[in-house]
Amino acid sequence: MKPQTAQLIAADKARLWHPFTQMKAWAAPAHEPLVLVDGEGAMVRDSEGREYIDGNSSIWTNLHGHRHPAITRAIKDQLDKVAHVSFLGSTNEPAIHLAERLVALLPDSDLTRVFYSDDGSTAVEVALKMALQYWQLTDHPKRDQFLGFTNAYHGDTAGAASLGGLGTFFDRFGAIHFDTHQVADFAALEALPEEVTSRLAAVIIEPKVQGAAGIRLWPEGMLSQLRAWCDRVGTLLIFDEVLTGFGRTGRMFACQHESVAPDFLCLAKGLTGGYLPLAATLTTERVYEAFLGEFHELKTFFYGHSYCGNALACSAALASLDIFENEHVLENLQEKILWFEEMLSGLSFLPQVAEIRRCGFLAGVQLQKAPGEPCDWRKQTGARVCVAARKFGLLTRPILDTVVLIPPLCISKEQLSSAVHALESAIKDATH
Ligand SMILES: *Cc1c(COP(=O)(O)O)cnc(C)c1O
Repeated sequence: MKPQTAQLIAADKARLWHPFTQMKAWAAPAHEPLVLVDGEGAMVRDSEGREYIDGNSSIWTNLHGHRHPAITRAIKDQLDKVAHVSFLGSTNEPAIHLAERLVALLPDSDLTRVFYSDDGSTAVEVALKMALQYWQLTDHPKRDQFLGFTNAYHGDTAGAASLGGLGTFFDRFGAIHFDTHQVADFAALEALPEEVTSRLAAVIIEPKVQGAAGIRLWPEGMLSQLRAWCDRVGTLLIFDEVLTGFGRTGRMFACQHESVAPDFLCLAKGLTGGYLPLAATLTTERVYEAFLGEFHELKTFFYGHSYCGNALACSAALASLDIFENEHVLENLQEKILWFEEMLSGLSFLPQVAEIRRCGFLAGVQLQKAPGEPCDWRKQTGARVCVAARKFGLLTRPILDTVVLIPPLCISKEQLSSAVHALESAIKDATH
């Protein structure tokens, strides 16, 4: 190991606390975290000069690859003007244009208003608070409860986490979460009594795929059924497309597979192509108009963050949307999705693979100890496979014993094959 790498790792272990990380294992002398220093396209390189396929899109954010010249240019150009100005009391050009572009991506919906924040959790927080206040402003103050789905993930801030259904992540913080209703599927939703449904401010779902649950697919038709049900019981519908947005499922947004539009659409992760933190919560004119009034009526949405409408981040997002058009990203993706599916199907013959779940470019390979015998989660099989994958040039992450493959949309077919072959070698290597 180079002396600089060793120094950086020592300093990291002495001073940092990483997210979702057992720091005892991280800080152990034998653990060598990768220090990533640069990237290009679907590849990243570490401080030792080793190259990896970014099989996790840098935690589900990157779309068009690292160091894409158009996004780099857009950020640099904006930096030469101004990096950040207040979105309270003033506005800025990139934020305005981005709002127009986002609304234009959803022509068949009533989503016409854009509220900016910083990340997926805050995009969800905004939707929750808007929904709650909407019902107060429209004389239904009793609609003050929310419903989410089992195994859902909507972020880590207390509000967003209250709607999460992953016990391992959230149980410990129960004391500061608000009470929510949770159901496993549409049948359970339909069975809810009137006392519950009449109190619902909104229902929230990750459309098509629950990501953090380990890439779990909803049945076909779930979104249209859900939309009809929300209309019937008179509640609002929130789609959390923080992960599924911007092409990951093969369409620009997952809800477009079923031509269904929500009352709130939460976007983050891929919004800037994975370059800078930025989130947007889109809603309808119906919701927006309920908040209009004289100042003394206090109908204002009193909510915001310091970096709302950040000009650099909005410039990156605009450049990312340009790339979708100029490089025909969604058109080119279709063939790559088929290729990805074909490559992945090669893994299903491994005795260590229990199931492969996939929607577009979102894939989860669930491991097993032996056919019909699940892994012992304490053995961290998924994590060991991901560490082994580095030797074969692939970087990715597990969710317990599901190895996730979410490559950047720009990945080539050759790189897709390499990624899946690397995963196969890693599974064999880590479980032999
Ligand atoms: C990642 C994620 C979030 C949270 O986004 P952050 O940017 O990490 O706060 C919310 N919802 C879904 C579906 C996600 O995948």
